[in-house]
Amino acid sequence: MAEFKPIRCNFCGRSEYEVAAVFAGQGGAYICSDCIKRLGAEQKRLEKDVLKSDEGFEEVPKPTAIKAGLDKYIVGQEDAKRILSVAVYNHYKRLKCAPGDSVRLEKSNILMLGPTGSGKTLLAKTLADIINVPFAIADATTLTEAGYVGEDVENVLLKLIRAADNDIQKAERGIIYIDEIDKICRKSENMSITRDVSGEGVQQALLKIIESTVASVPPTGGRKHPYQECIQIDTTNILFICGGAFVGLDKIVEKRKDASSIGFTGALKKGDESYSESLRELQPDDLIKYGLIPEFVGRVPIVATLDPLDKEALIKILTEPENALIRQYEKLFEMDGMRLRFTDAAIEAVAERAILLKTGARGLRTVIENAMKNIMFELPDKASEIEEVTITELTITKGQEPEITYRRSGAQGA
Ligand code: ADP
Repeated sequence: MAEFKPIRCNFCGRSEYEVAAVFAGQGGAYICSDCIKRLGAEQKRLEKDVLKSDEGFEEVPKPTAIKAGLDKYIVGQEDAKRILSVAVYNHYKRLKCAPGDSVRLEKSNILMLGPTGSGKTLLAKTLADIINVPFAIADATTLTEAGYVGEDVENVLLKLIRAADNDIQKAERGIIYIDEIDKICRKSENMSITRDVSGEGVQQALLKIIESTVASVPPTGGRKHPYQECIQIDTTNILFICGGAFVGLDKIVEKRKDASSIGFTGALKKGDESYSESLRELQPDDLIKYGLIPEFVGRVPIVATLDPLDKEALIKILTEPENALIRQYEKLFEMDGMRLRFTDAAIEAVAERAILLKTGARGLRTVIENAMKNIMFELPDKASEIEEVTITELTITKGQEPEITYRRSGAQGA
């Protein structure tokens, strides 16, 4: 008589009498209910790990690599690029720190000071691109404290959620750039003329989201409605970069320095010290004097100062970055089968005119657009006859026609 053998699980070896159930597979294989449970848990753990590495934070580029990425798109601003590279590297390294670790790495948001059109927004956006995280821009002047007409600060978070394709987990590690932060300074302390209405209240409201909070965001934007379902988003790991021109802040720094060197003022005073040079000696108190509330200053401990762009820098901006303005225009002409060329004198003239506009590199586009508007309207019709279009200094300064080289086979149109 054949010996009775209980069915055993092929994974753990236990018999059908030791477990709740044993299931038969093909080819005489068996698995018990306990092993199915164990494998299910293992599967879940694996999925979580894949998710983690998909987020890309295992591979945060080193500060030098981040800076090299910034160099491709941003001219000059060496100090700011270095400070931001380190700050962003540390921020994302911080996310990898185990929650139970005894050393808690605190979040360090960033304050960027620099004139209009010096590259603050571009820096913040390029950083987000390099790290590959969602990015949103908000204008501090459109925000109001709750109860006033204007946007609730939570709408800033909604923009980030939208930028992350509504993936909350992704948005929770994004970067938000808040522009014109100097325009929400307290009026009394503020030296510059601003259209501040309730600056201090907005700073208070922003404080809440800048630090760690789980915010409730109305999914449709606008004002919060008491009975509306809101999206919950944790802002602990969102990096906030605030930027502003802070006109007159250099005077506050200089005044403080002068006051602290009474008796030596004559010898130490450097009357022609530039804005950015003065700001190198910026202290938190100067920002408070300017009108930021102390709690806000405490939340943006990393300060990067951008230099105003001179003619040389503007020429580089026109020609050097991967998506330089001149290259963009060349591309537009190339798509119509024409070659576009700017003479060196024309490029210099663009930079000189842009300086007069006092809007930094933003003025470059205005100047070129102005000079090119008729050319870009008329020439595409004659594209098949034209080989090369040369923009000269006089095209920029006097609106003169560009020099045109026609193809040999084409008829001379003009
Ligand atoms: P800000 O935020 O400081 O007012 P932006 O970053 O918006 O200035 O700059 C406006 C535009 O000018 C950018 O989109 C970019 O084309 C150009 N720009 C400004 N600064 C630089 C720079 N340092 N390098 C390259 N391009 C720049």
